[in-house]
Amino acid sequence: MKALLLEKTNHLSIRDIDIEESLGPDDVRIKIHTVGICGSDVHYYQHGRIGSFVVTEPMVLGHEASGTVIEVGKNVKSLKAGDRVCMEPGIPDLNSRATMLGMYNLDPAVRFWATPPVHGCLRETVVHPAMFTFKLPEKVGYDEGALVEPLAVGLHAANKAQIRPGDVALVTGCGTIGLVTAMAALAGGCSKVIISDIIQPKLDLASRLGMVPVNVTGQNLKDAVDDITDGWGADIIFEASGYEEAIADIFEPLCPGGRVIFIGMPVTPVPVDIVAAQAKEARIETIFRYAHVYPRALSLMESGAIDVKPLITDRYRFEDGIKAFEYAANPEPTTVKVAIEL
Ligand SMILES: [Zn+2]
Repeated sequence: MKALLLEKTNHLSIRDIDIEESLGPDDVRIKIHTVGICGSDVHYYQHGRIGSFVVTEPMVLGHEASGTVIEVGKNVKSLKAGDRVCMEPGIPDLNSRATMLGMYNLDPAVRFWATPPVHGCLRETVVHPAMFTFKLPEKVGYDEGALVEPLAVGLHAANKAQIRPGDVALVTGCGTIGLVTAMAALAGGCSKVIISDIIQPKLDLASRLGMVPVNVTGQNLKDAVDDITDGWGADIIFEASGYEEAIADIFEPLCPGGRVIFIGMPVTPVPVDIVAAQAKEARIETIFRYAHVYPRALSLMESGAIDVKPLITDRYRFEDGIKAFEYAANPEPTTVKVAIEL
């Protein structure tokens, strides 16, 4: 089948590839429709590695996908051919201790699309366990289906924050993950979500989506949050930038007793001011991907509480997939999510 492959660092190709895919009794076969390009795909493309995950052989990229079921295994009752679906890209060992404890995202044996040595989904078809495949509600399109994956990160962070109705949240970083986290926080009961970045067009989009933008090139973040919260600080801070500079003062705009959720992944270890956290008895949470949130993401899209459509800013055909990656590696400031349609 045709696939978009990372052959080696900075070298992509679209070509035929043999992938052995037999349909197990609990699997479905899916024709891929739309795939969102993620920061991690671009990072592998440019650097060939993320931390200890190193691309040593050609690997199909992509993990944010929607598609159509074309065949189901003999035990599958929840899905049928023709169903439009989206897929959770990480498949854990179902018998592992982490899975038994409900933390299947933390199973050390998890196999995640486009994380070496596992092929991603920028190819014609995939075989996937039915239990990690979710039917799209009638109102939810393929585009939104592909964005359930990043939205799941935001929802998992919102869950970890244990939002209380009326909380004021601050999200640092206005990329896809920052924006979906802000959407999850608003849908989850926050009265206000402040979002910071240095790229004005992204903040303009955030403003249109009902968030309160702060451009930190011209404005001090703590001062801006103090203005909005009468000097009290934000109840919750979602750190979604991964930048050392943002993390260095992350506790400054936090209210006493507030919560900080670390979502962004710095490429190297960065200092965290423990005393600043202690002085506020901050509760610190971290997240790694997500678990148990796909059905919630789809329900929120169906109800209209979350609309991710404005986040897809650029589209490419599969034949132009290499161009899509070249663009995503060097995007205009207005770009949030680049999507490839097969
Ligand atoms: Zn992603």
